[in-house]
Amino acid sequence: MKNTIAIVGRPNVGKSTLFNRLVGERKAIMDDESGVTRDRHYGYGDWIGKYYTVIDTGGYVHNSDDIFEGEINKQVKLAIDEADVVLFMVDTIAGVHSLDEEFASVLRRYQGKKPIYIVANKADTNNRIHAAGEFYALGVGDGEIYPISSASGSGTGDLLDAVVSHFEDEGVEEPDLGIPKIAIVGRPT
Ligand code: GDP
Ligand code: MG
Repeated sequence: MKNTIAIVGRPNVGKSTLFNRLVGERKAIMDDESGVTRDRHYGYGDWIGKYYTVIDTGGYVHNSDDIFEGEINKQVKLAIDEADVVLFMVDTIAGVHSLDEEFASVLRRYQGKKPIYIVANKADTNNRIHAAGEFYALGVGDGEIYPISSASGSGTGDLLDAVVSHFEDEGVEEPDLGIPKIAIVGRPT
């Protein structure tokens, strides 16, 4: 799959909010409403003439702060395997969190394999934009930290400029992901 962005990070940093913003008006293949455990959500978007696929890798943890080592490994591996660019999201309100450090240590194993950007979300104010520098301490990522507000969209343009610079061509509008587009829902037996 070409031109693919994966968003990784601990619960509640704002991954799904960014996913929804990057997908915009387009419908994600699966929605997040039912609370059913799922691995990931795929959606599509485009930026300055390039189509992309975006994966919210945190889809399997619904309304939960709990995440375990195995889940971190799985989320990161999925992102590295499937994406061209990995966005490691952290939260400027919370600051550096012990789970961010766990993600960082897993991501570091893949450093150099795929571009990894630290995205410092909830940077809704100038103070928080400036505070984003503290995440350099995580010791992962390719250079710059991108402070953004997924809620308002500020900073996402600069982030997307950097992301699509890794995409060689314009991509395809709705790639065939080889996964069913029909969701079957219902209560568990
Ligand atoms: P996820 O668990 O990483 O997918 O996080 P969500 O996207 O579900 O967001 C977790 C919480 O953070 C929600 O209450 C969001 O409204 C909030 N949130 C997301 N982005 C922002 C932001 O840019 N600024 C602020 N202040 N809150 C945000
Ligand atoms: Mg989420």
